[in-house]
Amino acid sequence: GIEIANATKSFGDRPVLRGVDLTIEAGTVTVILGPSGSGKSTLLRAINHLEPLDEGYVVVGGELIGVRLHRGRLKERSERDILKQRARIGFVFQNFNLFPHLTIVENISEAPIALGTPPARARERALALLERVGLSEKAAAYPRQLSGGQQQRVAIARALALEPEVLLFDEPTSALDPELVGDVLEVIASLAGSGVTLVVVTHEIGFARQVADRIVFLDDGVVVEEGAPDDVLDRPRNPRTREFLSRVL
Ligand code: ATP
Ligand code: MG
Repeated sequence: GIEIANATKSFGDRPVLRGVDLTIEAGTVTVILGPSGSGKSTLLRAINHLEPLDEGYVVVGGELIGVRLHRGRLKERSERDILKQRARIGFVFQNFNLFPHLTIVENISEAPIALGTPPARARERALALLERVGLSEKAAAYPRQLSGGQQQRVAIARALALEPEVLLFDEPTSALDPELVGDVLEVIASLAGSGVTLVVVTHEIGFARQVADRIVFLDDGVVVEEGAPDDVLDRPRNPRTREFLSRVL
């Protein structure tokens, strides 16, 4: 699972995370909701140390991320250790970020090969992942030949190729045409219960209700409300949550 304690971060003199505490059980699906600028992306990026914290810490699978304890203080880990930790924490971005000069199957197998998986095996596994996201026929294509929704499903397959214990999604469907959103959400939903811990920042309330085990509402850098989807969505207790939901529902 994931443990976030007192996550604190400012950009210049602007506080963006103001002491976020959050515990996420292994294998569950958590949806993070919140207004623009509330710190959702920064919090996700803190989980895999793309955004080092000013204060507080993140533990994934029992291990401090990006830092280690040294004489009672947190000290930055080596770049090599950080990359190793990141391999266990997949990240799917809004804009897919596939490698344009690599085929789809190469996009998926590149990182495993770089980390030592024999190429034939990495390729075989990439093909199996493509099947899982419903894109077997696109193995030899290039990213530009795919729709945005198909590219995003490839990005998910690529993240899965490293067999991460945590998979983070930052608004995975917000760059897509509306008719392509459903297929991507379906692929994400199909990962629920497969063992991987999913954390999804999204404004797709229907998805949150159906797939999330927990919903976390972030506002101005703090968790103001969290709970089961029906509780948070139907009986929000915090006025900020209520106001947000009245605008998006
Ligand atoms: P959105 O829903 O619009 O994606 P968000 O909840 O993901 O918003 P963040 O991207 O985490 O919000 O940003 C929170 C605040 O931090 C914003 O005011 C943003 O402008 C600021 N911010 C984020 N990254 C940086 C950065 N690298 N340098 C300076 N300010 C930043
Ligand atoms: Mg964001």
